[in-house]
Amino acid sequence: MNSKGRKPIIAGNWKMNKTLEEAKKLAIEVKNNTLARAPEVEVVICPPFTALTEVASIIKGSHVKLGAQNCHWKDSGAFTGEISPIMLKDVGCEYVIVGHSERRQYFGETDEIVSMKAKAALAHGLSPIVCVGEHLEHREKGMTKDIIRGQVIGSLRGIEAEEILRAVVAYEPVWAIGTGKTATPEQAQEVHAFVRNLLIDLYGLEVALKVRIQYGGSVKPANIAALMSEVDIDGALVGGASLEAIQFAEIVSYEAKGK
Ligand code: PEP
Repeated sequence: MNSKGRKPIIAGNWKMNKTLEEAKKLAIEVKNNTLARAPEVEVVICPPFTALTEVASIIKGSHVKLGAQNCHWKDSGAFTGEISPIMLKDVGCEYVIVGHSERRQYFGETDEIVSMKAKAALAHGLSPIVCVGEHLEHREKGMTKDIIRGQVIGSLRGIEAEEILRAVVAYEPVWAIGTGKTATPEQAQEVHAFVRNLLIDLYGLEVALKVRIQYGGSVKPANIAALMSEVDIDGALVGGASLEAIQFAEIVSYEAKGK
């Protein structure tokens, strides 16, 4: 727990990367290299579906938790190519990313779909990491808060107060994902504070202060400390830099300076 009263959470989203052997090697390295920080920071890795079972057995009993990158909202059935929350729970996942901007952009996921996925994940004991974020053109037109408001309200629709406490919100400006352009700590904090206020409106102050909000978008060892020093930034969702164990471990080992 930090001075903000929330345990920081650093999650690695491996996306469509790593063969089984590569994933096993990376999982072992992440487990070994992040151990020292385990009491203070929650560490999550989200390998591709094909590696979940093997990675689960590597990190079993350790401080590293398992997440998936997506799920369907139904328990089972004729949904070719999809994976259900029950299946993810079955192989040892505790987290699942829903509504990542790549899912929204390339696979047509809407806020309604994201909320169905988040609800299904919660119903089966998984913690959804619910992603929201504006595109560059939205930011340039001064529409960031309108976009974020719509995505937060739409993606969390139907989620009760006791459920939101098990969820994580990830603010990921789309223009910062995989581009090397990070939002400045001030830009990120401004949106995180806005999300926190939306959570207050939806769930009340006491609950909203307990919900963790991660930042994502070109997080690296060099910028994590400044981001984590902001009052409403409770962790990071890391893409590219999570594919290399030393870099990811350096991110987990950030030294935040409280503001
Ligand atoms: C992401 O995909 O969630 C992400 C933030 O990617 P990157 O760190 O590579 O920008």
